[in-house]
Amino acid sequence: MKDKKVVVIGAGIAGITAVIKLKELGYEPILITKGAGSSAMFSGSVDIASLIESKHLKDIKIPVKEQIKLVQNRNSNHPYNKITNVLSVLTESINLVNDKLNLNFTKLNLNRPNYIIPTQTGYLKESALIKTHSLGFDLEKIMESNDNYGILNFTLFNNFFYENLLHNLNLIKKEQNSKSNFFIINFDFLRRSTDVNLRNFNFANIIEDNNLYIELINKISEIIKPEKINNIISPAIWGIEKYNEINTFLNSKFNIIETLSSTPSIEGIRLQKKINQYIKDNNITILNEKVVKFKHKKSNVISITTNKNNEIYTSGIVLATGKFIGGGINTINGYSESIFNLPLFYNGKPLFENFKEPMFENDYFKKHQAFSIGLKVNDRFQALGIDNKVIYKNLFVAGNIIADYNYIAREGGFGVAISTGYKAAKLLSQIV
Ligand SMILES: Cc1cc2nc3c(=O)[nH]c(=O)nc-3n(C[C@H](O)[C@H](O)[C@H](O)COP(=O)(O)OP(=O)(O)OC[C@H]3O[C@@H](n4cnc5c(N)ncnc54)[C@H](O)[C@@H]3O)c2cc1C
Repeated sequence: MKDKKVVVIGAGIAGITAVIKLKELGYEPILITKGAGSSAMFSGSVDIASLIESKHLKDIKIPVKEQIKLVQNRNSNHPYNKITNVLSVLTESINLVNDKLNLNFTKLNLNRPNYIIPTQTGYLKESALIKTHSLGFDLEKIMESNDNYGILNFTLFNNFFYENLLHNLNLIKKEQNSKSNFFIINFDFLRRSTDVNLRNFNFANIIEDNNLYIELINKISEIIKPEKINNIISPAIWGIEKYNEINTFLNSKFNIIETLSSTPSIEGIRLQKKINQYIKDNNITILNEKVVKFKHKKSNVISITTNKNNEIYTSGIVLATGKFIGGGINTINGYSESIFNLPLFYNGKPLFENFKEPMFENDYFKKHQAFSIGLKVNDRFQALGIDNKVIYKNLFVAGNIIADYNYIAREGGFGVAISTGYKAAKLLSQIV
């Protein structure tokens, strides 16, 4: 075991990846987190790059590795451009995290195109990794199957845009000359004298209680007659605590396809539970506190202090505090990095130089500049000052807090967070 004290700040997907890699390299990292970040909002598939956007299956045949190249060419400041052998780092890091956190995603294959996955809003999203149990998500396979698919709409669950989903699936069916059929199944369940509107999280809790899911699944089976419709597309509601148990039962009755979850995301909660389980099973020292200040000696950080006044001396740090949702960037009185007061950048330039440009677009899916704000790093993932010099030699940066990694602009989500978390841990191990 390496006896130097190393610290990871942030327990989102980037921070936990750094912890996993540091453990593998023989360290006993201390993890400090003030709570959940944007990883807990993740909708359920791993995004690496999906720059070519199209509603036509035939246009989306571009392998993920080509999509990565497009991101690298479009955005020279993107973190993928700072990682040598980015394709193998992505593969190694994602497979490692998939395995250690027990995420049950398909193995990463950068030579295949993105999967196309139904979402709760009815829109079809492209993403590189999907859950193994929901291989039915693979739209190409759905269209080739010539099978029947029931889209399950529950009374009282009104944030599932099933008609939009039906419309989009039928468009692809027509384009592909597919013989697969899609139907809406309206299902009256949990109606009460005073009706309420349920969300994924409430629904999952209710059906887990007293094993109500057994009754629900049996009723659905009676109605749909699995010999006629044996594939069900439903919003993500099938459990949190009893997720595995419910899935086994569901799959004994019919093939279930959960759509990607809207926020508040049930998949994010399931992921958070897996992260917590990993921390427990691997005896990771964790402080549920907020880092508020630090001390440094010349260009090395020597200690950090939390809001509970715990001062932790350290030889090296991975900073994975996320952006606005995670808390790595403060937005009160302008934008600022929240712990080390590191300068912020976007488009490769210091924030204060181009701050007058509009930060947001009218269209939600456009590239909002605000989401590109972050820390500028060198190819050793150390934060740079406005003079382009390394500020603290033993501070390595990972995940959403890095500048010019814009999730909304389809430049990668977990793909960037995981590969940079992995890389930051490896680089830290070279100096500590
Ligand atoms: C609504 C939504 C849906 C998304 N869906 C997907 C998806 O389906 N697929 C995908 O690939 N990507 C998705 N993304 C993008 C993805 O969530 C991010 O790319 C990723 O979660 C970034 O992880 P992170 O670890 O860098 O940051 P975060 O997950 O934000 O983690 C930051 C961590 O730092 C901690 N922290 C911050 N400041 C301090 C402090 N001072 N002291 C201690 N701890 C601190 C926070 O508590 C938190 O634990 C989605 C994003 C959003 C917003």
